Amino acid sequence: MRLENKVVVITGAGSGIGKETALLFAKEGAKVVVADVNEKAGEETVEQIRKNGEGFFIKLDVTNREQSKQMAKTTLEKYGKIDVLINNAGIVQDAFVSKMTEQQWDRVIDVNLKGVFNCIQSVVEIMMNQGSGVIINTSSIVGLNGNVGQVNYAATKAGLIGMTKTLAKELGKKGIRVNAVAPGFIATPMTAAVPEKILEMMKEKTPLRRLGEPRDIANAYLYLASDEANFVNGAVLCVDGGLVI
Ligand code: NAP
Repeated sequence: MRLENKVVVITGAGSGIGKETALLFAKEGAKVVVADVNEKAGEETVEQIRKNGEGFFIKLDVTNREQSKQMAKTTLEKYGKIDVLINNAGIVQDAFVSKMTEQQWDRVIDVNLKGVFNCIQSVVEIMMNQGSGVIINTSSIVGLNGNVGQVNYAATKAGLIGMTKTLAKELGKKGIRVNAVAPGFIATPMTAAVPEKILEMMKEKTPLRRLGEPRDIANAYLYLASDEANFVNGAVLCVDGGLVI
């Protein structure tokens, strides 16, 4: 098992990529903290984990600093350490720039960018005291290449790359590795609303001629979380079938 006894917090683990990751990590021996704003979805993930693994659910809105601190405190009380934080929770609220409301801009910045800052601040002292830790941020190829209708989302996902590289420099000497994964188009509830025509176009543009599956990203998180990646720091791993080359 590649994550035996590692304590892993995954935000947004009630759905899509986060859920798949939670189930995979539990199979690999991790104790998984399923942190999600969606109680029902999060509890369902934990129910599946407990069939042959260990974990618990904590309700967390990443934009809420108090809840973020509580997530770290509860994890520490229950498991005594935090080895890995995956900042996977994220949302889209798309619109052309001329039509985007201030609320759409603010909400996406709040969840995708400030939410990551909140969670990192909540666990970082614990990791520094341990002298070890892994932080994985979920960016997107949209953060590297841009995408029409997603000026808010692209800004957050590009911002996460800046945060990842800054924190890799800042925290490396404390034994903490910080990396990002940049998924391409992945078949999850987030992309379910994308028109079929656009998805077909994306497949055509992708050298591997398919959309990604949640498992493709979970496997990338697994590599970065594991000791196999113990000299990987400040990296942005694109997992997109070659869409961005
Ligand atoms: P998803 O299926 O929509 O799952 C996201 C989960 O996060 C949901 O359970 C959601 O709850 C939860 N969440 C939303 N706001 C939250 C908050 N404020 N605090 C805590 N949890 C919150 O999304 P996904 O496709 O798996 O995406 C996971 C990550 O990958 C995101 O960061 C996304 O930007 C990134 N990504 C996805 C793709 C893709 O093609 N799918 C591509 C590139 C990057 P609700 O369901 O109640 O909202």
